[in-house]
Amino acid sequence: MAATTTRAIVYHTSDDLRLEEVRLPALKPGELLVRIRACGLCPGEAMDWYMARKAPLVPGHEPVGEVVGTGEGVAGYASGDRIFVHHHAPCLVCRHCRRGDYVHCETFRRTKLIPGGLSEFAIVPAEVVRADVLRIPPGLSDEAATFVEPLACVVKAAHRAGIGPGDRILVIGLGVMGMLHVLLARRLGAELIIGADRVSSRLSRSAQLGADLVVDVTRESLPDAVRACTDGAGADVVVVGPGTVEAIQLGFDCVAPGGTLSLFTPTPPDVVWPFPVHDAYFREITVVPSYSAGPPETKDALQWLAAGLPVEALVTHRYSLDGAAEGYRLVREATEALKVVVRP
Ligand SMILES: [Zn+2]
Ligand SMILES: [Zn+2]
Repeated sequence: MAATTTRAIVYHTSDDLRLEEVRLPALKPGELLVRIRACGLCPGEAMDWYMARKAPLVPGHEPVGEVVGTGEGVAGYASGDRIFVHHHAPCLVCRHCRRGDYVHCETFRRTKLIPGGLSEFAIVPAEVVRADVLRIPPGLSDEAATFVEPLACVVKAAHRAGIGPGDRILVIGLGVMGMLHVLLARRLGAELIIGADRVSSRLSRSAQLGADLVVDVTRESLPDAVRACTDGAGADVVVVGPGTVEAIQLGFDCVAPGGTLSLFTPTPPDVVWPFPVHDAYFREITVVPSYSAGPPETKDALQWLAAGLPVEALVTHRYSLDGAAEGYRLVREATEALKVVVRP
């Protein structure tokens, strides 16, 4: 394939996303060309401080593609194959990779889909083809398959936080990532799942999805509510969705002695959380950040989806490419919208 162009969404600023013709370079050896069938909008892409330092860029890293071209030397894929393609992929041989810390691999940081997921067509770099492309099973819908990447991030965070049988879990922030934590924690054997948010529709949705108890943080003291249903102890694992000091401190105040605070979202770079060392020491609280996900987690996520994890219930809005700006606006608003899926 010679160089051409494709229609894609270009993020310039949070209120300036444009549908543009973007250059698509010639397909190189080892690469795949895909038509994007569907792509989810990530809440992280609605964090303006995070996007501002990358702009202008074509967002979208939750894609499902269909193979339309194969570069020289690519075996095992044919036109029409439905695949998940990760936006980053590790080298699999460096020290970080050998230790399983794929997101710290230099290749992982450097690779990306060209131009991105919110595009009609995209090129999958050779490193990604080698390390993190997954075939979508026939029974799994495109919409469900857009959850491979976000669910992989949740699989990794849950693993790092040690969520397992008998645990009492608190999830602060019931956007789509919080809801995925609720769904997954139940299947990992959590004994009690508490959901906390300030939006009533999100609270009721999380109860439908399996949260045992929901707490409206605008009406109740969350630490009091959590202690009331955990024999005064607190939650064994607290997952903090919002990337704010207030949410992190609130989460810290709800962790049981010996428990874990899971930080799922970054704060902006200049934000400082005054770490309560005294409390953390005597209560032996473990603080575990979790950033993105690597090949083992995308495989796990696909298995959960293929086994019927009911993620399609989380899709609240669907758009074509020119609706992406409106989709991000809804994600940023963080009220009714959970997963917004774009079909280029
Ligand atoms: Zn994301
Ligand atoms: Zn590596």
